[in-house]
Amino acid sequence: MALLPFYIPKQKRLKVVIIGGGYAGIAALITLLRYAPDTDITIIDPKQQHIKITHLQETFRYPLTDFLVPFADIENRYGCRHIAASIHFSSGELKNYQDKKQLIVNEEVVNFDYLLIASGCEYRAADHDDNVLSLHDFTISAGSELLTQWLNKNIQSEQSISVVGGGATGIQFLFEIKQFLRRIKSKAELRLIHASQHVLEQFPDGFNTYVQSRMHEMDIAFYPNTSYLEQQSGQIFLADKQTQKQFELPSSLSILFLGMKQHNIFTANAFGQVIEDQKPLSNIFAAGDCSYYQSLGSNTLTAQSAVRKGKLVARNILRHSGFFGLLEPYLHHELGYVVSLGPADAVGWLVSEGNVVTGLPALTIKEIVEAQYDLLVAGIDTYLV
Ligand SMILES: Cc1cc2nc3c(=O)[nH]c(=O)nc-3n(C[C@H](O)[C@H](O)[C@H](O)COP(=O)(O)OP(=O)(O)OC[C@H]3O[C@@H](n4cnc5c(N)ncnc54)[C@H](O)[C@@H]3O)c2cc1C
Repeated sequence: MALLPFYIPKQKRLKVVIIGGGYAGIAALITLLRYAPDTDITIIDPKQQHIKITHLQETFRYPLTDFLVPFADIENRYGCRHIAASIHFSSGELKNYQDKKQLIVNEEVVNFDYLLIASGCEYRAADHDDNVLSLHDFTISAGSELLTQWLNKNIQSEQSISVVGGGATGIQFLFEIKQFLRRIKSKAELRLIHASQHVLEQFPDGFNTYVQSRMHEMDIAFYPNTSYLEQQSGQIFLADKQTQKQFELPSSLSILFLGMKQHNIFTANAFGQVIEDQKPLSNIFAAGDCSYYQSLGSNTLTAQSAVRKGKLVARNILRHSGFFGLLEPYLHHELGYVVSLGPADAVGWLVSEGNVVTGLPALTIKEIVEAQYDLLVAGIDTYLV
């Protein structure tokens, strides 16, 4: 058992319920058990497995199962409990949970001393259509399987695939798809449709310049300032953002990466305690993409922030439950961010946003960051904070 500064346990066995077993939830679970191995933890998540979602685009090269950790394994390894259920809170009702300290889940009463909400962000979905795929489809089947099945079903002389969305997720998938098509010797054309002039606009300019030059070299057509309207059999319907003029292009398949829905975000104080009616709820914490902390730390929707928030709230739950009750504020700042561009290339920034790194060095940084998280899930915490 590791020693947590400013934590002297008071209560016998602490009951913690974690809603959402993603990056923040798992980081909190492992941190709680590291400092207080007898904590009674229940994870509530509708899925049967934790998904290492930052690897999802790699399922064009590796089986999806490589990136899934069944909650049954997490239960066995960490002695916690998983309940398959989805929990939703409407605004204003958390105070009630703070007072009662219990949830009703699948008709069962689940008591807690502390509740952690780590349910992530929802990804925008589109109307389901045979010729449209979105992020959710890749959480069920590997990219290689989905595309192979689709190409085998739609044998036409000229096939074209439209990837919609030039954010980090869309770009990571775009390059994996291109390389996958090359490996299987498919002649399908690939294009990117994006609503703005530049791709990856939330990152420094160098990201856009590098990605556009790589797209050009790899023969990926680019339609900037273009809104997606719909995909119908054999055609994609689009609109020019500036003129609003609608047009269509031949397209056999659209793959949509439309970003995240920013609703159901829980505002928390600098210690991670949820704020309701302008007052923090002492026993209800939030972490990860579903949280916004009023603090100096970064609230980016990244796995890095989710892990740091998850670890911080675990320490604060323990400290709050013990003597002293001295909590630690969230001050984490991103030290970098890397977007992969297929198996052998990447673009990212390191230490400061002006320091753009590309190619193998960038890819190596990404792999180190991913390996650090893999170690954490395996119970080995190599994070300094
Ligand atoms: C393809 C892809 C690549 C990415 N690559 C990177 C990267 O390279 N680097 C990086 O830093 N970030 C990356 N991100 C972003 C990163 O994955 C997220 O920021 C991170 O997963 C957020 O962690 P989280 O725990 O808040 O949410 P999640 O990891 O999304 O976990 C949320 C969990 O809550 C569960 N849940 C949802 N609703 C409910 C409910 N109502 N009740 C109970 N449980 C619920 C879900 O099933 C899920 O298991 C990527 C995202 C994607 C999609």
